[in-house]
Amino acid sequence: MSGKYEYFMPTRLFFGGSVREFAAEFAGDRSYQKRTPSQSAGFGRKALIVTGKSSAKNGALDDAAYCLSQNGLEYAVFDRTEENPSLENADEAAKAGLDAGCDCVVAIGGGSPMDLGKAAAVLLANPDKKAKDLIQPGEYAHVPLYAVPTTAGTGSETTPYSILTLHEKQTKSSIGANVFFGKAFLCARYTDNLPEAVTLSAAVDVLAHLCEGYLSSKASPFSDMLAEGGFASFAECVPALKARAFDAPFREKMLRLSSLAGVVIAQARTSLPHAMGYAMTYFKHMPHGFGTGILLGEYLKFHPDREKVGRFLRLAGFASADGVKELVLSFTERPPSLTPAEIEDFSRKLYENKAKLAIHPGLVELEDIREMYRRSTVTI
Ligand code: NAP
Ligand code: ZN
Repeated sequence: MSGKYEYFMPTRLFFGGSVREFAAEFAGDRSYQKRTPSQSAGFGRKALIVTGKSSAKNGALDDAAYCLSQNGLEYAVFDRTEENPSLENADEAAKAGLDAGCDCVVAIGGGSPMDLGKAAAVLLANPDKKAKDLIQPGEYAHVPLYAVPTTAGTGSETTPYSILTLHEKQTKSSIGANVFFGKAFLCARYTDNLPEAVTLSAAVDVLAHLCEGYLSSKASPFSDMLAEGGFASFAECVPALKARAFDAPFREKMLRLSSLAGVVIAQARTSLPHAMGYAMTYFKHMPHGFGTGILLGEYLKFHPDREKVGRFLRLAGFASADGVKELVLSFTERPPSLTPAEIEDFSRKLYENKAKLAIHPGLVELEDIREMYRRSTVTI
């Protein structure tokens, strides 16, 4: 870590019981947003609400629609968000928005609708482009966009990443533009009815973000302070996670923690477990959090900065890296199994991704990746 670093996370965060409490925030937009010259200073005239079939059913959609109506905005709902949304899904959402004449976006849901909302916001401002064009790194304008998270895991509301599935390459990748939400409304009540499996997988994602951001080559003293605070809060949540006792204080803390972990990775990025986990999601159909989290224990053993790994384990309340592994496995029905051919294929694909390998502060050999896959899964 050099002495020179920067930090940027411009999303305004609102914490409360319901989005309705913040209805006035939908009138004008005083937040950081990239705008095309034709856009007005207000949030917009017609919003594209990007959501999913379940994530729309917790009151968040009704509350956001109320806020838009109160400010004279019309809206159109796109609720066909895929889990791990694809480039094609982003084009579909953008087309729905363009056809309906939308000039701003409200994403309501977990990481999938939030990431899709970011891509749709870029495509609405660049109607000549398709989602696959956005994979190329570049500066892209986007229409104003707000978020209402309904899972507590990805922290997409505080990161600039929009992770999309690339079927052509059989993997996932962030689009090449940095897209931050202008505002995010954090109301834990929308996470109250999250199914147990989604709650647990999302919590594992929070742990992975805090840990990978802390151990990344892009970590800074600033992001480390945030991460270290996050480890202690995560430790406080572990008894509730183990007991599956998801009461209101737990939901509130986990949502705050999810956003904080997003703030950590907004610059520090995620590292090898996330990159390796994409294959577990794409080919083994594991939810994002579990697919990543099962690799975390072995990554902790592999990481060269033993002092930092030790501090993470101590602060997060784990006796060892195996303790992290055991906790994650206790949340999943069974450890995932991989064939030797799958391990080879997944490992080689990641090994070719030199930009991702550079997030790890040390040399990574192909055999290291193979070994982490082998030790984290059951070989069949
Ligand atoms: P998700 O895919 O958004 O949602 C998982 C499931 O939970 C879906 O079936 C969803 O329904 C349902 N759901 C969401 N909210 C609910 C609620 N309140 N009540 C009941 N069901 C609800 O899962 P996620 O873990 O939050 O997001 C994963 C995605 O985020 C992945 O694509 C991952 O790559 C991405 N990600 C992004 C970042 C980033 O920085 N941008 C970071 C980490 C992960 P619906 O189908 O109706 O939505
Ligand atoms: Zn993640």
